[in-house]
Amino acid sequence: SATPASLAAISNGAKQGILCKGGAAMESLANLETLFVDKTGTLTYGNFQVVDYHMDSDILAQVVAMEQSSSHPIAQAITTHFNDLDLSQVDQSQPVEEESGAGLRQGNVLVGKLSMFNDYADPDHLLPLAKVGQTTIFVGRNHHVVGMIALADRVRPEAQKAVADFQASGVTVQLLTGDNDGVAQKVAQATGIDQVWSQCLPEDKIRQVTLAQDQGQVVGMIGDGINDAPALANADLGIAMGSGASIAMESGDIVIVKNDLGKLYHSYQLSHRLNRIIK
Ligand code: ADP
Ligand code: MG
Repeated sequence: SATPASLAAISNGAKQGILCKGGAAMESLANLETLFVDKTGTLTYGNFQVVDYHMDSDILAQVVAMEQSSSHPIAQAITTHFNDLDLSQVDQSQPVEEESGAGLRQGNVLVGKLSMFNDYADPDHLLPLAKVGQTTIFVGRNHHVVGMIALADRVRPEAQKAVADFQASGVTVQLLTGDNDGVAQKVAQATGIDQVWSQCLPEDKIRQVTLAQDQGQVVGMIGDGINDAPALANADLGIAMGSGASIAMESGDIVIVKNDLGKLYHSYQLSHRLNRIIK
């Protein structure tokens, strides 16, 4: 049951747009030692823009049709950018399957990150297509690479200060992302994070959380995506961004309504004050 002091802290947090599921989450926030931060939608806006693409128009139409079935921010960007395209000739007889944090598959067509193409005969042809420091997705058909799309996102302006504040308080901040290493390093540099885990699948995110816990750390994980939900559930403190997938919010102990990492730091300080009152 929540104490009067923790209720006051919860209500103060709520005014700042931080929703806590019970007093325990608010109290334990002060004990945080390692904070894992997802990239897309957490350190960045998750509002991608298509900046470059190469592929034939027939395959492009199929890719756009496939992305219509996904709720990933990349899918949003692609369907918006190509919304004038005629999709009436696309063969929709086969289902679109989504591999969370990796990409999409429809029959013999594959769309997504590099690791989806591991069994391709010509994976070396993919790398030169990737734009350095940009999120790049590839398109394959019948085991051959047939295209790419490069997308750009922007770092949220408040992220750098929030990261610095946590670090100054002795909290280790680490970046966890499913995106490629070039993008991960760029965002890490812009936000002052020096430990980076890129190309993560959802299970890799869980593994990092568990490894840190095994080393005795009290671990927080903040993210917004369907692919982050398992790691949020495994962390000592799961923190969900409010604009994210509803599954992420269900898995979190804390929800940050306005996607502002600075609000989490505010709650962290609140939690320290709360613990001084309780003890
Ligand atoms: P993050 O960890 O940065 O939030 P995700 O784990 O959601 O990123 O996605 C990792 C990568 O998987 C993306 O950068 C992209 O290459 C690929 N991907 C995920 N979903 C899709 C999709 N719907 N279409 C194409 N590529 C996708
Ligand atoms: Mg994400």
